[in-house]
Amino acid sequence: MKPIRQLSVVPTLPENLEPLRELALNLWWTWDNEALSLFRHLDSELWEETYHNPVAMLGKISQEQLQAAAKNEVFLAHLDVIHKKFKSYLSAPSWFETHSNNEALSDIKIAYFSMEFGLTECMPLYSGGLGVLAGDHLKSTSYLGLPFVGVGLLYQHGYFRQTLTSDGWQMADYPENDFYNMPIQPEQTPDGDQLLVEVDYPEGKAFAKVWLAQVGRIPLYLLDTNIPENENAELRDITDYLYGGDERMRIKQEILLGIGGYRALAALGIHPTVCHMNEGHAAFLALERIRQLIADNGIGFDEASEATTAGNIFTTHTPVPAGIDWFPPELVRHYFRNYFGSLGISEEKFLGLGRKNPSDHNSEFSPALVALRFSTMSNGVSQLHGHVSRNMWKGLWHNLPVHEVPIKAITNGIHTRSWVSEDMQNLFNRYLGPKWIVDLTNQDVWTQISQIPDTELWRTHERRRERLIAFARQRQSQKRRKRFNQTLTAQNTNQEHEAAAKTLNSAALTIGFARRFATYKRATLLFNDLDRLEKILNDPERPVQLIFAGKAHPHDHEGKVLIQKINKIAGESRFQHKILFIQNYDICVGRYLVEGVDVWLNTPLPPNEASGTSGMKAAQAE
Ligand SMILES: *Cc1c(COP(=O)(O)O)cnc(C)c1O
Repeated sequence: MKPIRQLSVVPTLPENLEPLRELALNLWWTWDNEALSLFRHLDSELWEETYHNPVAMLGKISQEQLQAAAKNEVFLAHLDVIHKKFKSYLSAPSWFETHSNNEALSDIKIAYFSMEFGLTECMPLYSGGLGVLAGDHLKSTSYLGLPFVGVGLLYQHGYFRQTLTSDGWQMADYPENDFYNMPIQPEQTPDGDQLLVEVDYPEGKAFAKVWLAQVGRIPLYLLDTNIPENENAELRDITDYLYGGDERMRIKQEILLGIGGYRALAALGIHPTVCHMNEGHAAFLALERIRQLIADNGIGFDEASEATTAGNIFTTHTPVPAGIDWFPPELVRHYFRNYFGSLGISEEKFLGLGRKNPSDHNSEFSPALVALRFSTMSNGVSQLHGHVSRNMWKGLWHNLPVHEVPIKAITNGIHTRSWVSEDMQNLFNRYLGPKWIVDLTNQDVWTQISQIPDTELWRTHERRRERLIAFARQRQSQKRRKRFNQTLTAQNTNQEHEAAAKTLNSAALTIGFARRFATYKRATLLFNDLDRLEKILNDPERPVQLIFAGKAHPHDHEGKVLIQKINKIAGESRFQHKILFIQNYDICVGRYLVEGVDVWLNTPLPPNEASGTSGMKAAQAE
């Protein structure tokens, strides 16, 4: 059983440094370059050691350093500027406030439920695009000032950390998240007690503790079952891993997210008018909404479902049928046997809610179908994906022609401030004026881009490429050192510098590919003709190099084979120093790559890529 920590480690700070604590606990710092540099300046080594985690950093920093910072006029002035900037960000009238004089919007409250949220590298609560999109959504809604809350799970281990064997085979390990050293805080009841919600499982009653991650103006509530109140280890382990375990674990997590998450909002006094299901994982919230309405008003299932469906929205993310959960009927029976009765419907009717054909008693149950049935609007994440999704789910609306199937398309987006490099943002500030970042879709802003002298634009881009290469080399030498378990002597430090300096070339055309290693993304497409590739990469006048990164799901053998293939080819002498695989793809690696490469490689097999957001990051960042 996992250890349970109850320590609060941030030490007492000198009084004039107190604003640091407030800044550390609001993820606003993740996208404000000046706030990031404030933390980096406090102790750049600790900043790296804690993997860019200001809360852990404040917990580890020595009292002497804090005392020194508290007397350092330059640091204090910087802190004061950032703190004022932060305060004015929070209090400035938002886009929503200035655009919502419409009566109909005055009561709106949106709750966004997602199994994963990718906000920053020190919070590994995401696996890929779905989570990064959810994180970017929170950051964008914070800017817009929408009446918005996020709901998710707080995983003890999160998603895995990737390393490769010397043979290029992916290994997974699961470092433990120490919640008391992350930029989150336990939520409390109005009386100051810890906030717990209850969810019934066949294994017993589970308690979930509610944590808050504050994202600018937006609260994100995260549920954690690894608490002493759960004596049963099976219940305690529900929030152990993201996408770990079998389908029993998956359904338990989805119950916690949808039902527990909706209850957490009620306990916080939040009554959303709109609930957004980010993928089918969150679908059970629709049932809980119905249940609560029935319990509160004594109405029937049909009436309650009609009333709540009007306020539910569903986003589907995958055009690959295998990417969707299908649960066997006995599993659903087992987990909902004490629940369906509270909806006032029979067990078979309940099972039908997740079946393509409700009267087919043998067929499996998909939460995605629950989400489609109980949403007033559903959408795919690009025009093409909308089209593919209408075809995929048309069976649900067999009396409608395909083009009238009510699944629309809203193309994914990114939070620009999180993905455009500081260098490039500064250049834009100088030539486009500081408003470009809040007026991204205004063509007039972008026509001014021709004002930037070519040499200056290119120099800025080259600087980013140099930073990427330096980052890649540093990761390489860390890896080598780990592999040979070296301690640093003067001699091997020199060897190390020499070896690192040969890796990649900061002046060569750099092609980047960083994605999950799902086979349909075809990471190895460039390797179809190795002799031709050899000529291209080794061109004496116009050299080219490739940088790869990405994780295969731990159960995806084929994906791991692709990673190994790339590493084998990278090891051939003709490709030495020209092809590099950076381990452990995450938001930090992703940022360096999209900011530094010349060409972003995107070669999925159509139509399996629903949206592909890394390409959007690269297009904006370069
Ligand atoms: C952007 C991003 C993704 C999603 O990229 P796709 O192009 O949609 O595959 C996945 N993981 C990380 C770490 C990212 O930053």
